[in-house]
Amino acid sequence: MKILVIDASFITLNNKFKYGDIVPQLQIGYIISILEENNYENYFLDCKLINDMDNSLEDYSNIAPNIVIISFNTYDYKFAFKLANFFKDNNIIIAIGPHPSVSPSTVVYENSPFDFVLRGECEYDIINLIKNLDNMEELKKIKSLYFNDKKDSEISLINQFDELPYPKYHSYDGQYYQILPVPFFKKAKWGFLSSSRGCPNLCTFCSPVHRTSYGYKYRIRSSRGVVDEMEYLVSIGKNVIEIVDDNFTVSKKQVFEICDEIKKRNLKIKWTVQAKADTLNRDIIFKMKDAGCFCIRMGIETGSNKLINNIKKYNGDWKNLVIDVFKWGKEANIIMNSYVILGLPNETKEDREETVNLLKEAKPDFVQVHYFKPYPGSSLYENISNKEDFNEYLYHYNCSSEEFEEIKNKIHKIVYFNPRSITKHLSLFSGFYIKNPKILLRLINFLFN
Ligand code: SF4
Repeated sequence: MKILVIDASFITLNNKFKYGDIVPQLQIGYIISILEENNYENYFLDCKLINDMDNSLEDYSNIAPNIVIISFNTYDYKFAFKLANFFKDNNIIIAIGPHPSVSPSTVVYENSPFDFVLRGECEYDIINLIKNLDNMEELKKIKSLYFNDKKDSEISLINQFDELPYPKYHSYDGQYYQILPVPFFKKAKWGFLSSSRGCPNLCTFCSPVHRTSYGYKYRIRSSRGVVDEMEYLVSIGKNVIEIVDDNFTVSKKQVFEICDEIKKRNLKIKWTVQAKADTLNRDIIFKMKDAGCFCIRMGIETGSNKLINNIKKYNGDWKNLVIDVFKWGKEANIIMNSYVILGLPNETKEDREETVNLLKEAKPDFVQVHYFKPYPGSSLYENISNKEDFNEYLYHYNCSSEEFEEIKNKIHKIVYFNPRSITKHLSLFSGFYIKNPKILLRLINFLFN
């Protein structure tokens, strides 16, 4: 039996937005490892790395897969259906990933090319499904499985994910994946791992579509297991690691243990994490820096305390908290990266000014400005009317596209186009750009388009 696994994220290498994060989906890596452990012949297509999609699809159809597993997000909804129709013939088509998990009824229905949805962390369930395709009784026992004969399903979570095999990195040629410039004079070879799954917070705009994991239940691996995997990544040639957790610093004990283990083993590797401001303090930041963390990425979202309270991200003085965290990051010599949202519900021009002012004070090294999009799986999605039109922009709150562009340009000027930032950027990353010239070209493209 031949199984083709597809990551349907469709952004081509020529796309100007490619300067941002180009990250493999670890869940697919885990699934490929488990398929191999069970001796299934498997193939992997990562659409975001493909320039000529039509030719690639022909190549993969020549493999003649029997089962096609397609992972996709809400913004790739139409493209995922195009893929499913392309490979349909008599094949079994299984949908996994963020969108099918939070909205299975929009994926499997009468005459849909998709036969099944597996919801959430389906690494083990996928084998169960493949082995029991002809056994309706057994299929009905798979809790995360949604199909026309069984619509009662749930998002599955794996508690002991230390027991999963490492994601299959042979499929992830690290030269194509990248997050941000790294302060070293080397060609970057990114490795990826997760140390935790789930996020205990209840931000109303957030959904698995935005995140890398499912569920509110926060689950961690052993610190030893995490550092074992770091060592493994180094042993196969990776020289920089992204820990893909939604919020690496939920458990301070876990963070300290991982940092101590890295130091104990004298492991010299640069790594980066995503963290929420209220889970950081000066001690944690300096501890992480000492163990090799070179960059913290953080969702600032807005400079308005009113809005941050409204979206249930933080109940208190967010502005001063963010300013403190960025100050500590700079003292520790950590690159501070930020994400901002414009067009939140009830946002006013004054709120947007507060966001601009917060960036002026916090002085992040990088910023990505996004439009608010209430995706399925978030509580704010329930408020919108055009729920089924996933390929349209779903924003609808008080911020025209002209104003969005104007504020985004203002923010880019504050963060990038000033003597302090340019000097710092050049002193940190000149060596990196010499060794990774394509990323410099993408940066230029990103900033001037
Ligand atoms: S925005 Fe971040 S902190 Fe909030 S629920 Fe999502 S992942 Fe968790």
